[in-house]
Amino acid sequence: MELQELIGIVKESGVAGAGGAGFPTYAKLDKRAEAIILNCAECEPLLKVHRQLLEKHAYEIMETFQFIGEVLEAKRRIIGVKEAYKATVNALKGNLPSFQELELKLLPEIYPVGDEVVLIYEALGFIIPPGGIPIEKGVAVFNVETVYNIYKALHFGKPVTSKYLTIAGEVTKPVTVHAPIGMEVREVLKAAGEITVKNPVFIMGGPMTGSLVTSYAVVTKTTNAILVLDGDHRLVKRMQSDISIDMKRAMSICCQCEMCTDLCPRNLLGHPISPHMFMRMATSGVTKDLSPFLDTFYCCSCGVCELYACPQDLSPRRLITQYKNGLRSKGLAPDKNVQSKEPLSAREYRRIPMDRLTARLGLAEYNKEAPLCETRLTPPQVKIMLSQHIGAKAVPLVKKGDQVEDGSLLAKAQEGKLSLPVHASITGEVTEAGQDYIIIQNSNERMQAL
Ligand code: SF4
Ligand code: SF4
Repeated sequence: MELQELIGIVKESGVAGAGGAGFPTYAKLDKRAEAIILNCAECEPLLKVHRQLLEKHAYEIMETFQFIGEVLEAKRRIIGVKEAYKATVNALKGNLPSFQELELKLLPEIYPVGDEVVLIYEALGFIIPPGGIPIEKGVAVFNVETVYNIYKALHFGKPVTSKYLTIAGEVTKPVTVHAPIGMEVREVLKAAGEITVKNPVFIMGGPMTGSLVTSYAVVTKTTNAILVLDGDHRLVKRMQSDISIDMKRAMSICCQCEMCTDLCPRNLLGHPISPHMFMRMATSGVTKDLSPFLDTFYCCSCGVCELYACPQDLSPRRLITQYKNGLRSKGLAPDKNVQSKEPLSAREYRRIPMDRLTARLGLAEYNKEAPLCETRLTPPQVKIMLSQHIGAKAVPLVKKGDQVEDGSLLAKAQEGKLSLPVHASITGEVTEAGQDYIIIQNSNERMQAL
């Protein structure tokens, strides 16, 4: 297959990175990639999706990854998987003789090894420069579910209409489910038994980078998890704190101990981000040296500084993110010519073990099995967002009253922009179609209601 044909299939199928910011995958299919990496690092505590999918569908995913490597003519095709995922590693090893050109790279159980810059350093031994992107150094990274979605597009012509996600925390039956895109959190949670607290709060995504949502929030192409916690849980209180209070607390009690910088994964790789310097300058109001502010561009928002490192419970990440967004809104971009240092020799001793992180977050009691259930859930309706990823949102093609089939095109990608189409995730009637989302009522549910 020619590269342009693969790009066309992947784009038309609406494949975006199944996690993180959801970068449209067709834009990563680039022959500058001399090395491609399959990311099975499952970065955050409690999440299970990628390891489970790779264990269950090892052959299909390896075959597709191998195929992508052939089309891109990538010299190295590396599967990065945590050594701790024994069942997944065994499934991969069992299939490896069929894929001689694939390499297996066993990764340490540290956070955030799934971050692309950290992953590339662990797998290939070199550093992506500050502000740079992997393809500029000849690397492309794809996560497991993304490659599985490409497999379904190539073999069955199926667009992306569903998402695997782990439900964990205060539920009686933690589970990894297969949910149609657009399904509401409150409906998805029914698959995990009962909620075990009176005042539940929902985090969409992992505990380090996820965000608080209501039970009416909907699954998107990047939703990897729904965590249910008690409203009084420390992590919830941190997420609910007011950023203006965060700044006042920082002004009062940041003791400049530098723990945030000592443990910052990007600083340890030599990138010019020093959260303690940012905190010093931001809280003192001294602006003689602007570099601590401009260096906020090199923060990857991993959350180590505020959820693991800081002994004062301060929030460097939130404050840094606020500054970074402010700089972006003024049209500023990171300086790509800034020099990176060598990784710190102390890095080896300062990497963060996942079990320590899980305990520090107060989540150790929730670190249980969450078995993969592949039966697709059937919601009464779905609300499908037209912007689920980085880039321009899709343009609606349907109107209220239209009948749509599971997999039919609802909205097209914007021409000439980084954009993806959106497809129906259930069969039914369109009951609302706007510029931001489309609601579909499940036809089976309608029949029952009638
Ligand atoms: S770890 Fe906390 S107290 Fe120490 S310098 Fe960083 S923000 Fe300040
Ligand atoms: S969130 Fe904190 S620890 Fe993570 S990269 Fe940014 S400054 Fe460093």
